[in-house]
Amino acid sequence: MIAPLSSEALVVGGGPAGSALAIALAEAGLSVVLVEKSKEAQHKVCGEFLSPESLPLLHQLGISPDHLGAQTIHSTRLVTREVLAEVRFPAPAFSLTRRALDEALLQRAQQVGVNVHRGWTAERLDYLEGSNRWQAHVSDDGELAVIEGESAFLATGKHGLRGWARVTKGTHNNLVAFKMYFALSSEQQKQLAGYVELILFPGGYAGLQMVGGGCANLCAVVTREKLQQPGAGWDSLLDYMLRHSDHLARRLNGSIPTLERPLALSAIPYGYCMNGPIEILSPWRIGDQAAVIPSFSGDGMAIALYTARRAAQLYLGGYAAADFHREIRKQFQRSLYCGSLLSRLVTALPSLGQVARIWPSVLLGIFSATRVPDTAPVS
Ligand SMILES: Cc1cc2nc3c(=O)[nH]c(=O)nc-3n(C[C@H](O)[C@H](O)[C@H](O)COP(=O)(O)OP(=O)(O)OC[C@H]3O[C@@H](n4cnc5c(N)ncnc54)[C@H](O)[C@@H]3O)c2cc1C
Repeated sequence: MIAPLSSEALVVGGGPAGSALAIALAEAGLSVVLVEKSKEAQHKVCGEFLSPESLPLLHQLGISPDHLGAQTIHSTRLVTREVLAEVRFPAPAFSLTRRALDEALLQRAQQVGVNVHRGWTAERLDYLEGSNRWQAHVSDDGELAVIEGESAFLATGKHGLRGWARVTKGTHNNLVAFKMYFALSSEQQKQLAGYVELILFPGGYAGLQMVGGGCANLCAVVTREKLQQPGAGWDSLLDYMLRHSDHLARRLNGSIPTLERPLALSAIPYGYCMNGPIEILSPWRIGDQAAVIPSFSGDGMAIALYTARRAAQLYLGGYAAADFHREIRKQFQRSLYCGSLLSRLVTALPSLGQVARIWPSVLLGIFSATRVPDTAPVS
């Protein structure tokens, strides 16, 4: 048994949300303990698109994506069989591997004094009424520890924690996601540089962008029904996508997959937003624990960073978790609703993408309808 730890703030989960929150609280002078179950930064199922909204939020935390080797993304292409439309973003975005980003954020947290424990998994989180404190039971390779905090922040992403499962499962929750890196031919690297391509096919969609080292990230979501067909799996999904998109087939021609196997994720609660009853006595839920936007919007990390920043502001201002949850629900409901609706439409009817060929500004409209409402840095 590891000796008990105590802190003012206890953060469970060291993805973008947990690290960002821990940094903000530690910079405000609080003692913070953060537990992250992975011993080292991992590849994650993610398109790795850092939206323009996420950049000021990262800069505020002392993180500069271009210093971490991020690639600039200036435009998006909407693709079915061939490119339908191309639109320039109002402000530049970036692509950066999650391994690099999550590691940089955790290191920054350590630098500003957060007590970071990697390889520690929280097994449960309880509120102790007698002492008015939170207590987490964590395990590290079979060793057990107890951590106490005056407040608790749940930043476990899509993973639930015993006793604190989400009340609802999101409004578009029948998708399964896959991610694979491909080393592209030098000609295709040149063609793709600066763009994030959104490839629509019946039953799903995929994002493709360069992430450095000559590699592109192909991150696809597909309905569970499609995957339940006989012989379905990553190989048949890839084959299916290539048959439906000559453009993608050209991009991947002569490429080499660089991960041993694709990463997969199921039961994604797209459209989820703190929309159950607001619990009075609850840990502060941030990042994907607060709201899950469909991945084509490329704004999940901005939401994680934004909710972390806002939770820190409200916590330091003396507000309760329920106040924060109520605010987030009000603020995000519209963009989550639009995002889910669009996600359901494009997976069911990819031909709808044709509208963007005739009217490319539709693409920008879609982009703005699913944005984080307000990420202007607060001084
Ligand atoms: C297919 C797909 C593509 C996406 N593409 C993009 C994109 O291109 N751009 C974008 O901005 N967003 C994208 N997103 C969304 C983005 O990945 C998430 O919104 C973001 O990672 C949320 O950050 P988080 O910190 O809340 O959760 P996470 O990043 O999931 O971090 C949670 C952390 O908690 C840890 N953890 C979990 N349980 C425990 C426990 N019990 N104890 C200790 N630690 C624990 C995990 O190991 C993890 O490190 C995508 C999502 C999907 C599914």
